[in-house]
Amino acid sequence: MGLRLPLRRSTSFTPDHPALMEVPGPTALKMEANVLVMGADNVGKSALTVRFLTRRFIGEYGDMEFIYSHNLTVDGREILLHIWDVPSSQEQAEDGSSEEKRIQWADSFVLVYSICDRASFNILPLKVQFIKAAKEGQSQEKVPIVIVGNKRDLHHQRVVSSEEGRLLALSLDCGFYEVSAAEAYHGALMVFHGLAKLIPDTKLGLKKGTGIRGIVKTMSAVFARKRTDSL
Ligand code: GDP
Ligand code: MG
Repeated sequence: MGLRLPLRRSTSFTPDHPALMEVPGPTALKMEANVLVMGADNVGKSALTVRFLTRRFIGEYGDMEFIYSHNLTVDGREILLHIWDVPSSQEQAEDGSSEEKRIQWADSFVLVYSICDRASFNILPLKVQFIKAAKEGQSQEKVPIVIVGNKRDLHHQRVVSSEEGRLLALSLDCGFYEVSAAEAYHGALMVFHGLAKLIPDTKLGLKKGTGIRGIVKTMSAVFARKRTDSL
């Protein structure tokens, strides 16, 4: 089965980022990276992503699927991040091969758990193993992964301590943040900023083929065909 492709959105929620529509000359090469946001259902993957993109927390996020594009300046480098927030219903409905294709698409990973949900924390070692097995065969470089404990504001419902989170991240050689997407923008910014810092320059190329341009082209083709079919 092929990879189901989500809609793309830029942060301003207009259809396409202009930079992606240009044919860049040698001096106009833009740094880009693909980020996959993963984790159990209901841990706040969409809340964290939307908080980073819009600075807002809107409470309910539904099950829509988008790849969002957002510019971030890290150590003086401007990087265009393409962030794929996969809805949980889709993750449950499909086999492992689609997840593997998404992992191939991504250069870097945000793994979210809820500090109030032990099961969402317990699945992380397997996820990290799966990512590393898929990516590290291809290059000797370390895969950029950050682990994020979300819902920090819910102190009374906490079942995973900060120390446990930090130790797990340390043992898996990942970055670590504890945040509340509900309470603050700063934590979400730290997560994506910290992740971008882990991405080596060699990975920050223009995306071709299986990258975002390929996906945009495929999406246009799919929509064009559907419109014609329905006439
Ligand atoms: P996803 O399934 O992982 O994408 O989770 P969502 O982003 O849809 O969030 C699931 C639920 O948790 C929603 O009701 C959110 O409002 C809530 N939520 C997300 N982040 C936080 C947080 O930091 N604190 C609190 N209290 N609730 C949150
Ligand atoms: Mg979601």
